[in-house]
Amino acid sequence: MSDQDRMILRVKDVCKCFGELEVLRGISFELREGGILAVIGPSGSGKSTLLRGICQLEQMDSGSIEICGEKLFYTDESGQAIYAHPTVQKALQLKLGMVFQVFHLFPHLSILENITEAPIQVLKKNKKEAREQGMRLLSKLGMADKADAYPYQLSGGQQQRVSIARALALNPAILCFDEPTSALDPELTGEVLKVMLELARENMTMLVVTHEMRFAAEVADHVIFMDEGVIIEEGTPSQVFHNTNQQRTKQFLQKLMG
Ligand code: ADP
Ligand code: MG
Repeated sequence: MSDQDRMILRVKDVCKCFGELEVLRGISFELREGGILAVIGPSGSGKSTLLRGICQLEQMDSGSIEICGEKLFYTDESGQAIYAHPTVQKALQLKLGMVFQVFHLFPHLSILENITEAPIQVLKKNKKEAREQGMRLLSKLGMADKADAYPYQLSGGQQQRVSIARALALNPAILCFDEPTSALDPELTGEVLKVMLELARENMTMLVVTHEMRFAAEVADHVIFMDEGVIIEEGTPSQVFHNTNQQRTKQFLQKLMG
């Protein structure tokens, strides 16, 4: 297989406005299978909108996005974004696992039921199989003893680990995170980052919007720095963190690291 074939996500020249506000102004990047991409940048720079565009929670205005070799949308000659057929859109959405800052667990379902819900309802897996897979995932994330607990009985870090298990239960090609630790205190942040590190070691493809610079520096193999809807700089962590000649990157990192 060539490198081209292994590209699992291709984002090209993506633009998005909210009214007059241009939130994404020509974003292009690629993510290869097994790659760990960290997206960093100040608040309001368009990181979440970009992720939401890839996960189809937000419609993009123009450009193109390709997931696992299939176009989610492209732009025709008139500049209009043309989205794939709804069945293709749905299939592509299933290729993405999503973990957000807020956990969104179903409060009335047990931890195990939270994880088996989508495999049973969406993938039509049989219940026994879904429960077995759910228990395997919970064990892996150190949460097997909480299978019958309810979300309110768990700490934030535990809830976030359950949301990761829930995303993994759909066997996604890419696991997408939007600031997964920013609602957690430092101790709980550590336990979530540890799980993410383990997934990275298992070659899970990950797209991580984060302001955990330690994660970006130590786990990611590629870092994108975004500001005001454009990619200011991208490269290996050592390029971006230690050898940048971009003033804006320097300012951002200085502010963050104090
Ligand atoms: P980030 O995740 O980098 O903080 P966002 O993608 O959330 O940035 O937001 C980028 C900009 O778009 C911000 O100015 C935000 O206020 C604006 N924005 C985001 N979502 C919407 C929306 N649904 N309607 C209008 N403006 C929005
Ligand atoms: Mg955001």
